[in-house]
Parts: sequence; C-alpha cells; structure tokens
Amino acid sequence: MICRKCGGPVSPDAEGMTKKMINRGETSFFCLPCLAEEFKCPVSLLEEKIEHFRAQGCTLFVRQPAEKGDN
Ligand SMILES: [Zn+2]
Repeated sequence: MICRKCGGPVSPDAEGMTKKMINRGETSFFCLPCLAEEFKCPVSLLEEKIEHFRAQGCTLFVRQPAEKGDN
C-alpha cells in the first residue's frame, strides 16, 4: 500500500487509522506522518490511539507478528 500524499509505504496500522479517522470505506491511504499532518497532531498521538484501539480489540488494527507473546 502506497501513501496517497507522499507515495511512501503505508503500514497496516496507518491503513487502519486512515479508515478510522477518515472513512471506513476509504481505498486510498495515508502513511502515519501524513495522517498526523492532515489532523495536525503528532505521530506519537496516532501511535497511542492505535494502541488504544488495538487494546479494545478493534479489527482494523491487527496485532503485528513482532509483538506476539507479550500478553
Ligand atoms: Zn505519506
């Protein structure tokens, strides 16, 4: 997936955030830095929100394989 603004790579989390913050049916996505710019907030805040939504079990944010085993 490529960011529609800067053309950089979009992580699955950034994809989820685009859907969550813009439109669930969105088919073009922003990378995290561009999303942060769009919403005039720091990337760290988006990362916090991602963790928050993930903790709630939101299906838009699948757990990354690297994080397995920390439950
Ligand atoms: Zn971007």
